[in-house]
Amino acid sequence: MDAGTSPERPSRRTINTRCCIVGGGPAGMMLGYLLGRAGVETLVLEKHADFFRDFRGDTVHPSTLQVMDELGLIDGFLKLPHQRLQKMDGKFGAASIRIADLSRLKVNYPFIAFMPQWDFLNFLRESGKRFSSLRVWMNAEATDLIWSDGAVVGVQAMTPDGPVEIRADLTIGCDGRHSIVRERARLEVEEIGAPMDVLWFRANKGGESESVFARVEAGKMMVTFDRGDYWQCAYVIAKGQYDAVKARGLDAFRDDVIGMAPILKSGISEVKTWDDVKLLTVAINRLKRWTRPGLLCIGDAAHAMSPVGGVGINLAIQDAVATANLLALPLRERRLRDADLATVQARRAWPTRMTQRAQVAIQNRFVAPVLAQRGADPPLPWPIALLQRWPWLQRIPARLIGIGVRPEHVHSPALPPVTGD
Ligand SMILES: Cc1cc2nc3c(=O)[nH]c(=O)nc-3n(C[C@H](O)[C@H](O)[C@H](O)COP(=O)(O)OP(=O)(O)OC[C@H]3O[C@@H](n4cnc5c(N)ncnc54)[C@H](O)[C@@H]3O)c2cc1C
Repeated sequence: MDAGTSPERPSRRTINTRCCIVGGGPAGMMLGYLLGRAGVETLVLEKHADFFRDFRGDTVHPSTLQVMDELGLIDGFLKLPHQRLQKMDGKFGAASIRIADLSRLKVNYPFIAFMPQWDFLNFLRESGKRFSSLRVWMNAEATDLIWSDGAVVGVQAMTPDGPVEIRADLTIGCDGRHSIVRERARLEVEEIGAPMDVLWFRANKGGESESVFARVEAGKMMVTFDRGDYWQCAYVIAKGQYDAVKARGLDAFRDDVIGMAPILKSGISEVKTWDDVKLLTVAINRLKRWTRPGLLCIGDAAHAMSPVGGVGINLAIQDAVATANLLALPLRERRLRDADLATVQARRAWPTRMTQRAQVAIQNRFVAPVLAQRGADPPLPWPIALLQRWPWLQRIPARLIGIGVRPEHVHSPALPPVTGD
């Protein structure tokens, strides 16, 4: 697993592998780990030189923690710096509410671990080094697919050593919501849409803390994650309104934030320019078909998720686990058929649809009306009122967020690499 030129990276222009994974995000790194563990010769291409990039979500949910446990990685993983969240508390106008309580779940890890995504990905990369069948090339960008007789037989990639042609029995697009793989494969995207965008920023914590996680007022919503020495904040705006927010000026934005969350009064000074505010253009979409002969897309490349529930990473991991469960042995034994690829979509399309349906319902029935509300605080939606009246119901949102629909468990084998190919 190397960055830059190394003996591991051959200088010849064509290489062969059993599986080529495009993209080293949560889906690609987990799938690489699982296939490497199953002794399948696998090459992961990641276009960036490292994982230390912009914030892009760092919630590791109980379902993913369970997968780490099944892989024997949990102890090392939980030694990395992280924060834990069990109770999702909020302010709805003047009312204090509890949205979900993960401590009510009967699972091994009843909490969300907040960990920078780069720490998670580095941990997977380091852990995967023990598998000789797995290689991860950093700084390697897939630029096109290679076709033969209507099937994908690999990718063209640009590396610091020049262009490389990677021939593979199977190519898997894990290259995120702007996937070049799905675009070059001409896989049709079904856009579902979202009424909001999100502005992400950090605020210093100082010595103060509080357990409020979500805040809702007329026309405004914000989520604050306690990240130890800072707050990671998500400020929700109506779709396409970023320019209007900017036009009002940074002071007005800061005042809105402090009005909602007085605890950020000193810490928000860390937001000095609009460069400190990152816009997430929220999209919900999914591929109609996740496969072509020789090709499969998973994770955000197959379905971009709304940030509602913070489930994108975890769904990507679940896709990776299901893919390895279904394909590791056929790949290893060189008996992979196109019908096998379709079984991955058959297994994962339903949880994707269900999760997106829930996100759309929350966006349309709750987020959009709140953002449109002017004057008085919006009324407490009846499902949230019920959760306050009968707290045991808080296990339902906890389960949907923490475990999700159709959780996957690791069934792919741990095997030595295949020799003599
Ligand atoms: C600002 C922001 C906040 C978010 N917050 C959360 C959150 O709190 N919780 C949550 O669960 N989800 C969150 N998400 C969503 C989450 O990050 C994604 O759902 C998740 O990372 C998807 O994983 P993936 O592996 O499918 O794709 P990605 O994480 O997008 O990974 C794709 C990888 O492919 C690489 N790549 C792209 N093109 C190429 C190419 N041509 N060649 C080689 N490599 C390539 C990219 O560099 C990247 O590393 C957030 C996203 C954003 C942008």
